[in-house]
Amino acid sequence: MGILSAKLSAVKPSQTKAMTALAASLKAEGRAIITLSQGEPDFDTPENISRAAINAIQVGHTKYTAVAGITPLREAVVRKFQRENNLTFSTDQITVGCGAKQLLYNALVATLDEGDEVVFPTPCWVSYPEMVKLAGGVPVAVDTRLRDGFILKPEDLRAAITPKTKWLMLNSPSNPTGAVYSRKNLEDLAEVLRDFPNVWVLADDIYEHLVYGDTRFYTMAEVAPDMAGRTLTVNGVSKSYAMTGWRVGYAAGPVELIKAMNTVQGQSTSHTSSISQYAAVEALNGDQSFIQKFRDAFEARRNLVVKLINDIPGLRCESPQGAFYIFVGCQALLGSVTPSGKSLDTDMDFALYLMEEAGVAVVPGSGFLADGFIRVSYASSEQELNGACTAIARAVAKLAKSPKMA
Ligand code: PMP
Ligand code: GLU
Repeated sequence: MGILSAKLSAVKPSQTKAMTALAASLKAEGRAIITLSQGEPDFDTPENISRAAINAIQVGHTKYTAVAGITPLREAVVRKFQRENNLTFSTDQITVGCGAKQLLYNALVATLDEGDEVVFPTPCWVSYPEMVKLAGGVPVAVDTRLRDGFILKPEDLRAAITPKTKWLMLNSPSNPTGAVYSRKNLEDLAEVLRDFPNVWVLADDIYEHLVYGDTRFYTMAEVAPDMAGRTLTVNGVSKSYAMTGWRVGYAAGPVELIKAMNTVQGQSTSHTSSISQYAAVEALNGDQSFIQKFRDAFEARRNLVVKLINDIPGLRCESPQGAFYIFVGCQALLGSVTPSGKSLDTDMDFALYLMEEAGVAVVPGSGFLADGFIRVSYASSEQELNGACTAIARAVAKLAKSPKMA
């Protein structure tokens, strides 16, 4: 189409959104589909948070707000960083946007010139490479390996950095692998970055509270205080407080960068909803006990799904330390043939087969720049997860080996 920009033609739609939309359209046709394609908690937003939003409407907090967000919310974010991450910020170092997603995008738009490079480990969240391209930059994917627990190795980071590198984007716990960077992992990366003073760190901490067992969460600015002057820490209330639809994320970093991000936002979306901002104040300042409840539920679901998936011949997964995704290797099934005679050559073919045959929506690994995997979100009820795994097992059992498979 002549109207579209050259820049946009290189940008792919979000695979998480595409698979979820396909599942929704099949459901609308009357098909029973279990949607494990979109990472969002199935829990309701806690009552005290919803009440704060209703109160905000009733007292008339329904007008435009400051671009960076209302002061009580920025103050609550300052306290959150002090309380949970041992990080000290002032309110002018904080900005609030429509989800962590928009803050990542604002940061890239505010900092990238044509051709600037952004390094990130893969498998990565579907939006990283596309956002970088939208902002005029060049995505530089650095593969991580299953045998390294999908953790970026310092020598691989060093090899990926060029004079054009502006950012290292890090996501821990990771979507889609669930990998969690230890203090030592982050220290090792900081050690490399000390040799490259122009490279900044974009720490995407959106799954901070979802770590299991003895695993502890760390973020770069906390572990390497000398990096804080070139780190943007992004977080939000979507996952920890079951508030995906409210669209509130926040970021903390050097004032100059925050100001530039506010300029981007002030000229595009202005700010996120005033009502959602009041709800987020209550989320961050109010009772925190349900975070532990959510985490316990996710941990039990993780254990369930890891076991059920590993019981299916041809599928393999590790037990991830964080987030709410299982990244499942399906390489052994590629090349097999469905009952209708179609050859499953790619993870996308396999994901579409699971949608069609099992009625289960998952996301192909290729969306996360990792072929031969599917991502299963376990942020659903145990009943749905049991049903989904049974249906996947049945669908896999119907596949025939093709002669080209060993
Ligand atoms: N980062 C990662 C890695 C994610 O998976 C998500 C999922 N939505 C986000 C950022 C954005 O979250 P939100 O915009 O809902 O705050
Ligand atoms: N981050 C979630 C996911 O990866 C929500 C969908 C999205 O924003 O991509 O499924």
